[in-house]
Amino acid sequence: MNLVDTHAHLDFPEFDADREEVLERAKAAGVVAMVNVGTDLASSHRAVALAVQHQQIYAAVGMHPHDAKELDGAALAELRELAQQPQVVAVGEIGLDFYRDRSPRDVQLRAFRAQLAWAGKMGKPVVIHDREAHGDIMEILGGWARGLRASPLTGRLGVLHTFSGDVAMAEQAIELGFYISISGPVTYKNAYRLAQVVQALPLDRILVETDCPFLTPHPHRGKRNEPAYVRLVAEKIAALRGISFDDLAKATTANAQSLFEFEL
Ligand SMILES: [Zn+2]
Repeated sequence: MNLVDTHAHLDFPEFDADREEVLERAKAAGVVAMVNVGTDLASSHRAVALAVQHQQIYAAVGMHPHDAKELDGAALAELRELAQQPQVVAVGEIGLDFYRDRSPRDVQLRAFRAQLAWAGKMGKPVVIHDREAHGDIMEILGGWARGLRASPLTGRLGVLHTFSGDVAMAEQAIELGFYISISGPVTYKNAYRLAQVVQALPLDRILVETDCPFLTPHPHRGKRNEPAYVRLVAEKIAALRGISFDDLAKATTANAQSLFEFEL
């Protein structure tokens, strides 16, 4: 059974002591590919290095909204250069975080727009981080999508990772050409809204992820997350939709390949 963890941070120090064992456990759990997502310059470099070392790891490079204040011209040029590596399948994670507000909002908006423009020009899909910023995210992505009508990215513009909106927002994003990625919180007891989203979406638009080391699914909640646990997310989605785990795994893996255009 093949699964893809479409959003992992294996470069983070939480994995320094046992990264190889974590990758072994992922393999044993049927995780055939992982996208390691950069959050700033250093982590984007580490993401690419991991992808070069491990055939099953792909990289995304970009500046997280928390670090948006670091995105000057030189940093953007460095990210651009890094994105030339063949292991880089997306730009991310980029977006808006109005929950923590670690960078001022106007700075976040500027960095987000600059990286979208770059991704569009380069023809790479984007990995979107959205926390408490649904309105601005959808408005900006809508404008970006309209400007990309005749692009090879049409229909595979990117993914809203660890989706936290409602069914209407998910449908709107899919209409624009985005995928919706689901992580550990779907396994939590009070995830009513997320359960509705998972049940309403077309199967060909759903991705699974861990966002490890964060958002550990039940029953490991409270401990470090790792790619092997993407299986728990997939099992929960299959149960919510009343389909077999096999069918869910097959569909989400095909979706990841369509979005990121990698071979397995
Ligand atoms: Zn992340």
